[in-house]
Amino acid sequence: MLRILHSKYIPFGNYAAINLFGFIVVKKGYKMRWVDIHHELIHSRQQAEMLWIPFYTWYVLEWLLKLLKYHNLTRAYFNISFEREAYLNQHDINYLRRRRWWAWTRYLVK
Ligand SMILES: [Zn+2]
Repeated sequence: MLRILHSKYIPFGNYAAINLFGFIVVKKGYKMRWVDIHHELIHSRQQAEMLWIPFYTWYVLEWLLKLLKYHNLTRAYFNISFEREAYLNQHDINYLRRRRWWAWTRYLVK
C-alpha cells in the first residue's frame, strides 16, 4: 500500500521525500515522479525486511561512517548501501518483483 503525506517542513534541507516507517513524506510543492515513488518503495522493502528500527540505526551509522570517509554530506548520503541499491535500481520497474531479501548488502562495500 502506498501512503504519501505532504509536509511543509519534512524532509529538511534539499531532500524532496523521506520514507518514515512506510509513509512517504514529500516536501510540499514537490511533484513526485514515478522513479521517486519507486525509490521510496525500495526503501519500504528494505525497512520491512529489517523490521524498521534496525534499518534506521544501520542507516545513520553507515551514513556517519561514510561521512568520516568522504568528509562530504552529499557524497556520504549517496554511498549509504540502502541509497545505492535504491538509486541504482529505481528506474527498473520490475526490480522489486525479482529483488532478493537483503539485496542491499550487495551494495555495502565501495
Ligand atoms: Zn533514498
